[in-house]
Amino acid sequence: MADKLVYSSKINKIRSFALILIFVGFAVMYGGLLSRNIEWLMLTLFLFGLLFIILSCVVYFWIGMLSTKAVPIECPNCEKPTKMLGRVDACMHCKQPLTLDKDLEGIEFDEKYNKRKYRKQAKAESKDK
Ligand SMILES: [Zn+2]
Repeated sequence: MADKLVYSSKINKIRSFALILIFVGFAVMYGGLLSRNIEWLMLTLFLFGLLFIILSCVVYFWIGMLSTKAVPIECPNCEKPTKMLGRVDACMHCKQPLTLDKDLEGIEFDEKYNKRKYRKQAKAESKDK
């Protein structure tokens, strides 16, 4: 995926995803409005639009759940309060990469540090030593 892009905080990412879902939902419903001459098409598009909007509500709910699990910290770069998800995340305000893991401090930021596979690999490597 597009890891080369400026990294943004996970919560912000999910939030923009939910926002996109709402827009898609409304666009599909608008399509239904345009095709009101064809009854079945209108109904289908309206149902799909509704589905997208419900999905976005679910995502928003999920963000709420994630936020309670996120670790609130003060960003060392911009000194604003932010929240972290997982071992590495970015500041919500200045996009400063952050880590909770002392082993990863100073290492170039990489999203792979959050993945279970990487953790397993790291564990296996430390066993070999
Ligand atoms: Zn910051």
